[in-house]
Amino acid sequence: MIQKPKGTRDILPGEIYVWQYIENTIKEILENAGMKEIRVPVFEYTELFQRGVGETTDVVQKEMYTFRDKGDRSITLRPEGTAGVVRSYVEDGLINLGTPLKLWYSMPMYRYENVQKGRYREFRQIGTELIGTESYEADVETIVLAKTIFDKLEIPNIKLNINSIGCPSCRKKYQDALRDFLRPNFDKYCDTCKTRFGKNPMRILDCKEKKCKELNEGAPRIIDYLCDECRKHFDNVKSMLEKLGVEYEIDSSIVRGLDYYTKTVFEFVSSDDGLTVLRRWKI
Ligand SMILES: [Zn+2]
Ligand SMILES: [Zn+2]
Repeated sequence: MIQKPKGTRDILPGEIYVWQYIENTIKEILENAGMKEIRVPVFEYTELFQRGVGETTDVVQKEMYTFRDKGDRSITLRPEGTAGVVRSYVEDGLINLGTPLKLWYSMPMYRYENVQKGRYREFRQIGTELIGTESYEADVETIVLAKTIFDKLEIPNIKLNINSIGCPSCRKKYQDALRDFLRPNFDKYCDTCKTRFGKNPMRILDCKEKKCKELNEGAPRIIDYLCDECRKHFDNVKSMLEKLGVEYEIDSSIVRGLDYYTKTVFEFVSSDDGLTVLRRWKI
């Protein structure tokens, strides 16, 4: 008998009600917040993800399902939602819908990852995109929306961690400092990290190899290198969260993410099993 591929799962009639409850609850909260649903193709030209997600990310370097179609075009199953949504925003002229534009999606994604607890190669991701605003209020709105969802679903012991990864201008200074830190141990890093040193050393902090993780201990923190504008933005995010009574901790290790992310980054983590339940960045 042929079995399902590794990293996939069947959702059976006996558990589908859980999926439907979660999906319907989230949909209601997002639509009430003025978000509009968008659906984009399961596959896109590979170049979209290489350019949009970033050539030095783990996603693009190691995890994409890429193949040549019968017309000899390089095609990739979408590993994340933002690249396709932003492509549609431009290609379909969604700017005419006014800004800021609030979009949400619930779509299966595909990543060739090591199969482990809570991780599948086909997985469903619900995401939101706020396009056309750089305000700190938009960051806070996204965080509060996520918190509303967790509260409504009564998910216990969820912790919010935040950080800022700055903008291209402060990131440049930080990357120089980071390279100075990494350089003495350069030879000890894995081959993938070596290729990242020149182009995007922040990716080295995201390496999952044990020896690289150990070498990274004590690395400089980007939060100490923020420019005035980014610092002010981050201070505003923090004070607005405090005013709204949303508890958070600063976690300077959140530097992951795709190349186009700037400023506020955050994660909701379950303290029960250490799984990240939600991770979001802003473009
Ligand atoms: Zn900056
Ligand atoms: Zn490494």
